[in-house]
Amino acid sequence: MSSLNGQGWLSQGIRGTTHRGRMEYAYDLAVSIGSPVYAMRAGKVIAVQDKFPDTGGGRENASRFNYVWIEHSQGYRSIYVHLQQGFREKVSVKAGDQVLAGQLIGYSGNSGWSSGPHLHIEVQRPGHQRVFTSSVPFAIAGVCGDQQVARATR
Ligand SMILES: [Zn+2]
Repeated sequence: MSSLNGQGWLSQGIRGTTHRGRMEYAYDLAVSIGSPVYAMRAGKVIAVQDKFPDTGGGRENASRFNYVWIEHSQGYRSIYVHLQQGFREKVSVKAGDQVLAGQLIGYSGNSGWSSGPHLHIEVQRPGHQRVFTSSVPFAIAGVCGDQQVARATR
């Protein structure tokens, strides 16, 4: 399942400028603010944050991002970052909720360390509930057209 149901284009792939260390296998998908975001797999919501404005910004805003964090089977998690401020007024999502693959979980925005509206997604290794662990490689089904997938994997 895709996180944007086919919308958006890949603006940063693995090991990109800001995808280093723990975030090595993250993807950034450029998409307009307010675009619906869908769970990539079924799972349980671990944490939700919705309190920062969609101003974008640099490193000084690195911890000021809105997100939905979901745990899947075998302890792997996915996280959806830079969500639009106020997305919880449009979709009901809270820690403890069970979500299905393809379920609407939020709206893309420009909160946090971001040079323009986009969705940052990563899949993380199993680990401590409150810690963002290392990202792992994953494939996105149906998000990008063939050209963009080629760009991602080069
Ligand atoms: Zn990113």
